Amino acid sequence: MYQHIKYPEGGEKISVVDGKLRIPEQPIIGYIEGDGIGPDITGACLRIWDAAVEQAYRGERKIAWCELYMGEKAAGLYGGDYFPQETEAALRDLIVSIKGPLTTPVGGGYRSLNVTLRQKLDLYACVRPVRHYEGVPSPLRKPEDVDVVIFRENTEDVYAGIEYQSGTPENKKLAAFLREEMGASFFEEAGLGVKPISPFGSKRLVSKAIQYAVENNRESVTLVHKGNIMKYTEGAFRTWGYEVAREQFADLTVTEEELYSIYGGKRPDGKIVIKDRIADIIFQLMLLRPNEFDVLATMNLNGDYLSDAVAAEAGGVGIAPGANMGDYVAVFEATHGTAPKYANQDKVNPGSLLFSGVMMFDYLGWHEAADLISAAYQRVVSAKIVTYDFARQIEGATEVKTSQFADALIEEM
Ligand code: NAD
Repeated sequence: MYQHIKYPEGGEKISVVDGKLRIPEQPIIGYIEGDGIGPDITGACLRIWDAAVEQAYRGERKIAWCELYMGEKAAGLYGGDYFPQETEAALRDLIVSIKGPLTTPVGGGYRSLNVTLRQKLDLYACVRPVRHYEGVPSPLRKPEDVDVVIFRENTEDVYAGIEYQSGTPENKKLAAFLREEMGASFFEEAGLGVKPISPFGSKRLVSKAIQYAVENNRESVTLVHKGNIMKYTEGAFRTWGYEVAREQFADLTVTEEELYSIYGGKRPDGKIVIKDRIADIIFQLMLLRPNEFDVLATMNLNGDYLSDAVAAEAGGVGIAPGANMGDYVAVFEATHGTAPKYANQDKVNPGSLLFSGVMMFDYLGWHEAADLISAAYQRVVSAKIVTYDFARQIEGATEVKTSQFADALIEEM
């Protein structure tokens, strides 16, 4: 049925049964190697992931990896197509996949391969957990206080691509409509962008964030918005966020206001506190009092900035993992780019992709494999065995190659 993709023999597809994922003992999981440093980190991570599964389940469980093609490797195989139709079909069919970073082709009609991927598969939540591992260099005095999961809405906001360039007929038409019929006023020749924020998009994102908090025993979900200024978009996100908590999670949540007015500030057992903060202050709070935050839910632009800023508190993009998720389909991914100047040097930090794999194991319910990797990582980094990026920040570090770092980790498991 596919031209280049081959599902491995012995593997079985993940399915959705009664609204839940059914994970076979040998699930077929898609992987996309990625461009630039992609092959280096993917090769290292596949070895580590396989070793962790073997160590945790002694052959009872195993991942049947299936290579899927996207980016430059796809273009080579499929006559210049960076995102072949069959890759899209397989990502949907296999449900769970993981990918390295991709070069965005210049020209060719794609805004960005990642944006296209999110839109085509309707992966509406970008999920970025950030926590600190002992030994990882951080600019904070107490980086261990950082332990948050950011849920960023992936499909709306000023990133929706509804933009009109200054001077074009479309721009002039919209400007005339806004001025003449809507009474808006702005400078001549302004470029114009539209910021759509819907109840549907906001509620499904916040619902996913609360669901995650419930399943992972988290204490709070904070809605991050700039609703004091953008009342009908960001302010509405806040309103819809509280609404969805009331409508879908009434028994499991309390608002911050109720926490103080009814419960004297003490969180009742098993309840998740729903609160909200203005976007600018959250950047400050995440530096000064990060232990007050747990799950954060926000819109596309805020989430983009916030997730990189918070990642920097716990080691930066070389280690921060991520995933793009729909209702079931999930594509786990390295959060950094292709770092072309380091390609094929076996040099960079595999941490971001590695921990995306840890997130993936947790998503599968294979927590034992996830925990083995986290624990081994902690030991190796504490022993100051690190790749170049951490080595230059740690006194007395032993700098190793990507593949040697993988060897050290596997040995520690
Ligand atoms: P980048 O993340 O590729 O690299 C910036 C710098 O960060 C590198 O020079 C390197 O110093 C450091 N770095 C990145 N990953 C690292 C790692 N694993 N270990 C150690 N250091 C690491 O960002 P860029 O240079 O802005 O983008 C390069 C290309 O990547 C562009 O084509 C861009 O479109 C693409 N990109 C892809 C993704 C993705 O696929 N998710 C994300 C961002 C950028």
